[in-house]
Amino acid sequence: MESGSNGNGPRNQALKLLLIVVAAIFFGELAIMIVLQNLALRGSMWVNIADPLSLSIIVFPMVYFGVFRPVLEKNRRLKEVERILLAERADLERRVEDRTAEIAQANVRLAESLTAIRNKQLEISELAELTRLLPACDNLEEAYGVARKQLQRLLPGASGAIYLMNHSRNCMKRVLEWGTGQSFEETFAPQSCWSLRCGRALKARHGQDAVFCTHAEIGQEGQYHCIPLMANGEALGSFFLHDGDRQAPTNRRSSDDETERAEFLNTIAEHLALAISNIQLREALRHQALRDPLTGLFNRRYLLETLQRELDRAASVSSPASVVLFDIDHFKKFNDVHGHDAGDALLVAMGSLLLRWVRPTEIVARYGGEEFIVFLPDVPLAAAIERAEDLRRAVEVLSVVHHGQRLGAITMSAGVAQAPEHGANQSDLVKSADLALYHGKASGRNRVVGASMPPHAEAAAASAAS
Ligand code: GH3
Ligand code: MG
Ligand code: MG
Repeated sequence: MESGSNGNGPRNQALKLLLIVVAAIFFGELAIMIVLQNLALRGSMWVNIADPLSLSIIVFPMVYFGVFRPVLEKNRRLKEVERILLAERADLERRVEDRTAEIAQANVRLAESLTAIRNKQLEISELAELTRLLPACDNLEEAYGVARKQLQRLLPGASGAIYLMNHSRNCMKRVLEWGTGQSFEETFAPQSCWSLRCGRALKARHGQDAVFCTHAEIGQEGQYHCIPLMANGEALGSFFLHDGDRQAPTNRRSSDDETERAEFLNTIAEHLALAISNIQLREALRHQALRDPLTGLFNRRYLLETLQRELDRAASVSSPASVVLFDIDHFKKFNDVHGHDAGDALLVAMGSLLLRWVRPTEIVARYGGEEFIVFLPDVPLAAAIERAEDLRRAVEVLSVVHHGQRLGAITMSAGVAQAPEHGANQSDLVKSADLALYHGKASGRNRVVGASMPPHAEAAAASAAS
């Protein structure tokens, strides 16, 4: 539009100029003619020249070459300059457009890089959170809860499971799963896991003919990863992941680079393995510190520590609490007849029986060689004696098979004492129960005896009687 108006301008100017020239010729000739006519009156030779045609022939070339031609030439040059300027302007506009498009593309790329960096930072901070929280977990259950939450945040859109190897190393058991995309086997045989066999991470995609673990069904779209959980050079389990629609539930985009993704998953697996192994180690140490290795029951140290705390709690709510101290009758003889190993087997059987017998709030411990103690919170003396009687009858019929041989029957004697009547602290209470047990042994064994009075009172009574 602009260039059109620019083209008309010079044309109009040329027309105006032509009109002016024509008018100038006309009026110029008229003026010359008048002058020459007057001169002719005086009889000059100018009469012939005054003829209009002659004048036109003389004046027109003069006007054309003197005025009109230079103006046209100037006009033509102006047009040429205008054309060049317009072309340069169009070129400039095109370059500006190209540059604008390039800048817009660069902006998009920059925004993408920023998003990727932000996502990476999020991943790193959530991974750091996982590595901070896991070692602080007290036990494996707590660690599974933390791992489930963090893995959901760390791997949005993915679902997975963690398997741990059992003690016999012949079964992988699922201990944790998260996500909704896929359900995972509860157990599988380690031989069906190629990543365990090869000792390295494997991945496979739905519909591809890759060698992959047969414990997993690659039924859904997406990438499947199976990563062994290695600690101290030994596989303790595996981390299985279905990396489904990674972008669906979130606008956060993880790196599309598969190698980077695999490295990221490996790092997660390393942290999980390390944390699980540490907690397992800690639990084993704690177990060793608190438990008797033969029977699996709490040990004497744990019992004495806990007992005072429990007695204080019972006293604070004015609730009764009882202890039962019992001892296998003639165990020395049992050992002599059947051998020490058979005696151990009997102690193990006693441990299992006791673990089945106690209720969740009760505490049972191996107090000494063949002595056991049970703490019964909120249970008064009479009820505790009844419970001990139940146990005594169960021991009477306890049948232990050792090396394919059924061992002879045994019996036990028990002393029962109640807090605070027979002792407000753990030491006095256990002494009362021990004294009652002594009475049980002295009066023929295979019986339950309740404490009648605190040990110091009983001792005083005994010395008074003598
Ligand atoms: P009582 O009826 O008076 O309790 O007689 P007892 O023989 O049971 O008691 P005594 O204290 O004389 O003997 C306890 C025996 O328990 C002696 C010891 O060899 C045995 N004993 C202690 N700890 C263990 C153990 O861990 N394994 C085995 N097999 N025997 C043990
Ligand atoms: Mg004993
Ligand atoms: Mg004994």
